[in-house]
Amino acid sequence: MPEQCICKKCGNAGATDYPIVTFRTMTVHSGRKPQKYQAMGEVLSISLCSSCIDAWIAMRGEPKHQIVKALKYPVLLAILAVGVHFLGQNDIVRWVMCALFGGFALAIVVSEIKRIRRETTEIRTGNGNFSRDHMIEELAASLLPRKHADAHLSYVLCARVMDEKQHGQINREYGISKKKLAQVRQYLMVTPEVEVKAWKPTNR
Ligand SMILES: [Zn+2]
Repeated sequence: MPEQCICKKCGNAGATDYPIVTFRTMTVHSGRKPQKYQAMGEVLSISLCSSCIDAWIAMRGEPKHQIVKALKYPVLLAILAVGVHFLGQNDIVRWVMCALFGGFALAIVVSEIKRIRRETTEIRTGNGNFSRDHMIEELAASLLPRKHADAHLSYVLCARVMDEKQHGQINREYGISKKKLAQVRQYLMVTPEVEVKAWKPTNR
């Protein structure tokens, strides 16, 4: 293990090295319904310092920050509602459309605020789907590619994949099947570390 790990986020020394498994999810649209395929991607290491992790948790746990971001679409809808009201010809159509857009905007605001409240409380208390480990994975994902070719990438700490008891929870957080998690855990257990690090997923 290197003595001085440099944080990938801030570049300061004294970071911790986190081995992470990449999961690739490919959605194939053939036949009646889309099929999802999951595969293990690269196993990599990312160094992060505790102050960057704390800052990330503090930022994600702050409801105001999230709400401002979430208001983008409702505000657009509200502008549309006002626009329709002023531009429309027929009185009834004008009011109906205006009420429809306005109501829609309000419904989104209410449900988004509820979701954000629940989420930020979970983040601050480290409960539910937002444990500290999950937040480390989120921060790592923010610094790593989201996609590879057609595959969506998810990042899960090796330590969590190795802990069978967490597989149900990982499944809830990322939708990775428990069967796939068990397979990857088995692979990591029997494969020498050098080989794991050298392994590259084949491009399909
Ligand atoms: Zn840092």
